[in-house]
Amino acid sequence: MDDQPGADDGVLDPERPNALGHGFGVIGDEWTLLILRATFDGARKYGEIGAAFPISHAVLTARLDSLVAEDVLRKEVYQRNPVRSEYLLTEKGRGLWPVLTALWRWERTWAPRDQGVTPTMVHATCGQEFVPAFCCSACAEPVVAQDVDSGWGPSGGWRRSVPHVQTRRRSGNRRQQEYFYPDTMAVFGNRWSSAIVGAAFMGLTRFNDFHDKLKVPPTLLAARLTSLCESGILHQVVLPDRPDWSEYKLTPKGLDFFPVIGTTAAWAEHWYHEEAGDVLSWSHRSCGQAFTGVFHCDQCHEVLRGGDLRQGGA
Ligand SMILES: [Zn+2]
Ligand SMILES: [Zn+2]
Repeated sequence: MDDQPGADDGVLDPERPNALGHGFGVIGDEWTLLILRATFDGARKYGEIGAAFPISHAVLTARLDSLVAEDVLRKEVYQRNPVRSEYLLTEKGRGLWPVLTALWRWERTWAPRDQGVTPTMVHATCGQEFVPAFCCSACAEPVVAQDVDSGWGPSGGWRRSVPHVQTRRRSGNRRQQEYFYPDTMAVFGNRWSSAIVGAAFMGLTRFNDFHDKLKVPPTLLAARLTSLCESGILHQVVLPDRPDWSEYKLTPKGLDFFPVIGTTAAWAEHWYHEEAGDVLSWSHRSCGQAFTGVFHCDQCHEVLRGGDLRQGGA
């Protein structure tokens, strides 16, 4: 640790990403999500991951390198001559199973049936096909976004929580849409969109507030808000007597994205924790406890563990 007080103190640096900014920056990328989904499905070798969806060698190599650098994947040589390596999920990478489960649950609920079939999941413990229920870890009751009060913790703040992205390259590859529900990418595959949705969960509604708090350039903000409205995540509320005053509110579909935000935030707070404390302070209104979300099986009601999930039929 640098013992020069204040010199490298993240809390005093309004531009340095906090745990949320870092964590959402690492996984809030469309290619990264596809790579993670493939590795959770068992792909290990470069060729296996590359065969799971169309991706260029340059992009796949760059994304794998950054996931290794972030300690989400580790590269292991399994053959010397010629050298062949495989990519394995680290403990930190395996810790992302709730995020992928939350994305799966959301897609299962909201993706139109004609946009491909989301596979079912089987809970190995009870043997039943199930849907994960997002619950409070303290009282085990099911929780929706409106049940949780959220505020900033010691390392919170708007600017520092914006997903931090080192490399950004839009794929422009429409074929990706066959592999992920496009609305998932509309929210999660893009830095500003996930920041806007996160801010909407924190209570922001007005264009100017999104602009002031997140420092997102106005043209970009307008484009992202339009796209989030088109995806049915936000809806625009125009007041008849105030045409200049428009608000953006989460739709039921947008509010139902809460478990994805909750699981990603929990992963980020755990793996990028700052000494100052958490980014978010959440409490479950009905039980009064600090809120941490856990998934329960909706069939046997046991708490789900990553190793207990199996893909079922379509
Ligand atoms: Zn509770
Ligand atoms: Zn079960």
